[in-house]
Amino acid sequence: MNTQFIKIESPEETEKLKAAGKVLRAGGLCAIPTETVYGLAANALDGEAVQKIFEAKGRPQDNPLIVHISCMEELPPLVREIPQAAIALAEAYWPGPLTIILPKADCIPEAVTCGHPTVAIRMPSHPIANAIIRTAGVPLAAPSANLSGKPSPTTAQHVLHDLDGRVDMIVDGGECAVGVESTVITLCGEKPRLLRPGGITWEQLSAVLGEVEVDKAVFHALDKGEKPASPGMKYQHYSPDADVLLIKGSRQAMASYAQNYDTQSTAVVCFDGEETLFPHKTYTIGAPQDGSAHAHAIFGVLRQADADGFQTVLIHHPPRDGVDMAVLNRLLRAAAFQVVEV
Ligand code: AMP
Ligand code: MG
Repeated sequence: MNTQFIKIESPEETEKLKAAGKVLRAGGLCAIPTETVYGLAANALDGEAVQKIFEAKGRPQDNPLIVHISCMEELPPLVREIPQAAIALAEAYWPGPLTIILPKADCIPEAVTCGHPTVAIRMPSHPIANAIIRTAGVPLAAPSANLSGKPSPTTAQHVLHDLDGRVDMIVDGGECAVGVESTVITLCGEKPRLLRPGGITWEQLSAVLGEVEVDKAVFHALDKGEKPASPGMKYQHYSPDADVLLIKGSRQAMASYAQNYDTQSTAVVCFDGEETLFPHKTYTIGAPQDGSAHAHAIFGVLRQADADGFQTVLIHHPPRDGVDMAVLNRLLRAAAFQVVEV
């Protein structure tokens, strides 16, 4: 298929927005910019259209999708109930990088939830994403717009690289601000539980809800046969073609450990100010404690290391708190949980 590539810089470009809306209403696939990562969108109320997302990405059939809305009025028809906690979270963090899992309404097709009785809902803050949802006039199911397993796309060029010829349209709305996927919290259990960390931090969720559990799968590989609360967390994921190793320890310890790796085939991802410690090609992702900078940079850097032909990437283990919780969660999966303590 011929993929149309259009640039939309403002929500005032109504003709271009209508073109995207038309593709979506006709049951097609359109990649859209959001503040987290680029999303691959289809009409969430059209099971056949949603099925095409799985085919275009090569996404496992048991990994449910997030449904994107543009305003609060669009929520009630999609869910069976809206608990007080959901209202409090929405007031605090919507529109924004937070996905809330709620009991699903009958209008949500099986293809979206993969048989789960619950549905994941998010209201993105990106003005172009918001305008596309409004123009389409339907809620949009959208996972990240990458080939399944690859690092998520944070520019339209990343989307083009993975999905050219596989989707109807790609809307270029510039670089994504947050850089990692949304925080996912479920309100369908006994207590609120964080399933996937993201741009809204565990600390921010706790400030609104009080106690918030952290799902075991956030930091740990699941045992064989163990059933994940968030199906997406069970896969090796976010991985470049290169082998990724997370290195935990001081900068000096990491620098001496890196001497075991040749400079031809190995690159290093580190924090600002560490680059001179390595004879290797380095990619820096921000000051050591700047979680938002790490999130913004990380997927682009993993893709760049592949483009530059490296076979191994050593990455300095980020902190565990704040937005870095999301960065660590993604890197553990990119590294297939290979962590070297030095
Ligand atoms: P992606 O859109 O590629 O960022 O992936 C969406 C994430 O949300 C995956 O990790 C899914 O497993 C998770 N998710 C979506 N719907 C549900 C649901 N109903 N219950 C639990 N997790 C969900
Ligand atoms: Mg994804």
